[in-house]
Amino acid sequence: MTGAPTGPRRRGSSASPDPPGPPVSRFGSERPLPPGLLGRLDAICAAVSEGDAPAGRDWWPLSVWWAAAGQVPAVPAVVARPGSVGEVSAVLAACHGDGVPVTPAAGRSGVCGGAVPVFGGVALDLTGLAGVRDVHETDLLVDVGAGTWGDDLESTIRSGADLTVGHWPQSMAISTVGGWVACRGAGQYSTRYGKIEDLVAGLEVVLADGRVVRTGGRAPRSATGPDLTQLFVGAEGTLGVVTEVRLRARPAPGGEQRGAWAWPDFDAGLDACRRVLRRGATPAVLRLYDPEETPRHFPGVQGAVLVVVDEADPSLVTATMAVVEQECRAAEPLGEAPASAWSAQRNEVPSLASLAEAGIVADTVEVAAAWSALPAIHDTARAAVRAIEGTIAVSAHQSHAYPDGACLYFTFAGRPAAAAGGPAAGPDALRAAEGYYREAWDAITAATLALGGTISHHHGVGINRGRFLPDALGSGFELLVALKAALDPAGILNPGKLGLPSTFGPPPWP
Ligand SMILES: Cc1cc2nc3c(=O)[nH]c(=O)nc-3n(C[C@H](O)[C@H](O)[C@H](O)COP(=O)(O)OP(=O)(O)OC[C@H]3O[C@@H](n4cnc5c(N)ncnc54)[C@H](O)[C@@H]3O)c2cc1C
Repeated sequence: MTGAPTGPRRRGSSASPDPPGPPVSRFGSERPLPPGLLGRLDAICAAVSEGDAPAGRDWWPLSVWWAAAGQVPAVPAVVARPGSVGEVSAVLAACHGDGVPVTPAAGRSGVCGGAVPVFGGVALDLTGLAGVRDVHETDLLVDVGAGTWGDDLESTIRSGADLTVGHWPQSMAISTVGGWVACRGAGQYSTRYGKIEDLVAGLEVVLADGRVVRTGGRAPRSATGPDLTQLFVGAEGTLGVVTEVRLRARPAPGGEQRGAWAWPDFDAGLDACRRVLRRGATPAVLRLYDPEETPRHFPGVQGAVLVVVDEADPSLVTATMAVVEQECRAAEPLGEAPASAWSAQRNEVPSLASLAEAGIVADTVEVAAAWSALPAIHDTARAAVRAIEGTIAVSAHQSHAYPDGACLYFTFAGRPAAAAGGPAAGPDALRAAEGYYREAWDAITAATLALGGTISHHHGVGINRGRFLPDALGSGFELLVALKAALDPAGILNPGKLGLPSTFGPPPWP
C-alpha cells in the first residue's frame, strides 16, 4: 500500500512522471530510520509502506525539471497512511520519541515543495482521513475529514443539503481540505466567499507529541483569548497535523451573472476593481489580465480584460453587477463570452513537463498588496524579470480582490542559453535552469517586499520561499520560531519549511 499521492499528474491518471527504478534524491539530505521504528509503525498504523518517488515530491514546478532528469527532491524512508485520528496520534508519538521527521502530505498539489520530506523519515499521507462527517444545516457548518478531496466535499454537501463552501481553487480535484487549511489557500470565488481562513470555524489537530486538541466551536464569534484555530491555518504542517476541519457553508447559489470589460491599460482596470470593492460589492470573481496576458486567454482581444462572475441570491447578484457596470462605464464592454471562456477552462491543469523538455523554466508567483502599491509592484517586478538573461515572457493578472487591496499573480518563463537543451542535456543545463529560476523568484519577491507587499497570497512558503520569510515577517519571525519550539520541541514536524531553523540540517534550497 503506498497511499494515494498524486502530483504532479492529474488525479485518477495512471501516467507517472517518474522514471522506473529506485528514486534518486536531488537534496540527498535524508536520514535512515532508527532500528525498530518501522516495526512499531506497522503495529500502530494500518497502512505503512516503503518510501517511493511519488511520496518525495509535489507540484513545485522546479521539481518537474528534476523529475525529467530522473530525480525527486527527497525520498522518505516510509509512507504511513493513517485511517483515523488515533493512528495519526500514535505515529506522531512514536516519531516524537525517536526524533524522526514527519512530513504531512495529502493531495501533493502544493507548488512550493511543502510536502517534500526534506530529511526523509515518515511521509504522513493524510488522504485516508476522508469524508464529510456532519452537516449542521441550520447553522451552516460542515465537519469534514482533513484528507477529503475538494470536489468530493462539494458534491457531497450539494447533493445532501444543497449547500456550498464556495472554496474553488483551480486544483479543486487534486487537493484536500487539510491542504487548503495548511497552505492558507484561496478559491477562485474568494471575493464573495472569502479565503480559507475566513471559512474555517474550527479544527481537530494532532500535536507533535501525539496530543489531540480541538479549536473553535459552534458559536459564531468568541472572545475567549486569541483565535487558536488561526495558529494552524497557514502553518503548513510545521505546528500540528490537521485531522478534521469545521467549515462555514452557504446555501447553494440561486443566481449567476457574468460580464467582461476591456481597458487600454492595466492600471485603469485595477482602479475600477478598487472602486467596485469600495462600494461594498463583492462579485465572486473579479479577475483582471494585463495586456501581455490577455491574448493568451482571449485570442483576438487586446488591452487589459476584466472577467466578472457572480453567484448568490439572485437579487444580490443583480445589485452587485449593477455596481460593476457603473464602475466599468469608461471601459469597452465585451459581453459574457470572455467570462464564459474563462469559466470553461478554469480548472485546467498545465503540462509543465513539456515546457521543461523544451528547455523552458516557468512558474507563477502570487503576491498581495494594498491598492496604492499594486501598479508599482506590477511594473517593477516585471521590469526586474525582463532584465534577466533568457526571459521570454513575464505578465500578471489580478486574481483575488478585497476592499484594501488584491493579489497579483505573475507568470514568468525563460530559456537561458545554457539550459536550452532541457533536462536531457545534463547537469550544466539543470544548473542553468535552477539559476534562472532562483533569479526570477528573487526579482519578483524583492520588488514586492520593497514596495510593502506580502510575498504570498495563497500558495504558501514550503521550501521555495523559506529564504524570504525572515525578511517578510520581520520581528514576527522570532515569534514564529518561538511558537515552533514550544509546540514541537523535537522539531519533527515538517522540518526544512517556512525558513525555520531545524536540528536536522540547513535548508536544502537554494
Ligand atoms: C494546477 C494547480 C492549481 C492550483 N490552484 C490553486 C488555487 O487556485 N488556490 C490555491 O490556494 N492553491 C492552488 N494550488 C496549490 C495547491 O493546490 C494548494 O496549496 C492546496 O491547498 C494544497 O493541498 P494538498 O491537499 O494538495 O496539500 P499538499 O500539497 O499535500 O500539502 C501542502 C502543505 O500542507 C501540509 N499539509 C497537507 N495536509 C495537511 C494536514 N492535514 N495537516 C497539516 N499539514 C498538512 C503539507 O505538509 C504541505 O506543507 C494549485 C496547485 C496546482 C498544481
